Amino acid sequence: MSTKTDWIQEEIDGLQQAGLYTNIRTLSSPQGAWLMVDGKKVLNFCSNNYLGLANHPKIVAAAKSAIDEYGVGPGAVRTIAGTMSLHVALEKRLAAFKGVEAAITFQSGFNANTATIPALVGKGDVIFSDRLNHASIIDGCRLSGAKIIAYAHNDPISLEAAIKENLADYRRALIVTDGVFSMDGDIAPLDKLYEVAQRYDILLMVDDAHGEGVLGRGGRGIVDHFGLHGKVDVEVGTLSKAFGVVGGVVAGSKTIVEWLRQRGRPFLFSSAMTVPDTAACLAAVDLLEESTDLVDKLWANAKYFKTEMKNLGFDTGHSETPITPVMLGEAPLAQQFSRELYEAGVFGTAIGFPTVPRGTARIRVMISAAHEKDDLDKGLEIFAQVGKKLGVI
Ligand SMILES: *Cc1c(COP(=O)(O)O)cnc(C)c1O
Repeated sequence: MSTKTDWIQEEIDGLQQAGLYTNIRTLSSPQGAWLMVDGKKVLNFCSNNYLGLANHPKIVAAAKSAIDEYGVGPGAVRTIAGTMSLHVALEKRLAAFKGVEAAITFQSGFNANTATIPALVGKGDVIFSDRLNHASIIDGCRLSGAKIIAYAHNDPISLEAAIKENLADYRRALIVTDGVFSMDGDIAPLDKLYEVAQRYDILLMVDDAHGEGVLGRGGRGIVDHFGLHGKVDVEVGTLSKAFGVVGGVVAGSKTIVEWLRQRGRPFLFSSAMTVPDTAACLAAVDLLEESTDLVDKLWANAKYFKTEMKNLGFDTGHSETPITPVMLGEAPLAQQFSRELYEAGVFGTAIGFPTVPRGTARIRVMISAAHEKDDLDKGLEIFAQVGKKLGVI
């Protein structure tokens, strides 16, 4: 007998046949260079915990002591009774860290995008969006009701052509781009995008989720990397990656931040960041401001790993950051590669459509400051072994 959900089962079966079904593995250890994954100890090559802060003793201690002082939950949305002194302190510290007038936090980077874009543009407006922007930017754009025009990836010339052709037909406009593209590790040409934005007097927004804590002086992000202080209107960041916690942030002018406090829907209608998250993020800012050691170690590790992977004959794409895609092509091969890695002791998830275009499936290796040289060498040895077995190298 057929049921209302048969179509869903058919879709799931189809994903499995195409090698696009996501097998979710379970971790039973803290984040670090090594993990317990589905009961097996493996080398962690795929978390976004760039600096190893997710289990840093100072950050853990800060979260614990905040729980003793304030409990765990915020109790409400920020605009009703959920703004605690911790939130206010974190926003001040993040603004200072990033060298902007003001900052506002959200429960996640995803929420930061879906809050910000619809607050800045709406029906009758236009958004110029990089073709490879993150799903949360795309959803924010769709929620806004503005016309969305995608320009060629990282291409200021394509952006300018789209602006020339369309700008006159709309009331207001926004240019939005990822800072670091998470699947390829390339960096948006923000300096060039800024010139275009400036020429046409259009708001410029960058989502620096993979640049926060990674790019710029001591991890101050993409705006710092390009020396564009005060020139980029909206800088979205996440506290869920290099910061090692969970949360989102928007940094920019007082005016924009104040507007987001009034009109950012996830800020108004979803409860605030929790107490331990907020306290942990404050401790992460402390660590980043104290020293650049972790950021420096991250880059040195990434450089070593990438060079050695190339020497082994792997195609690691055109990453300019610690993100290291290992290009494999078809999704079933990437899934098999990931399974073989796991059996040999390396945790590296396969990534396929719709996260990346069809035919460009890959293992995305995330190197971190938590890795020691021995860890990287062990990983290289296992990659070489699996690559040879599967005929990739
Ligand atoms: C990871 C990511 C996000 C989402 O951040 P969360 O804090 O995990 O919600 C948003 N934008 C980009 C570009 C990302 O890579």
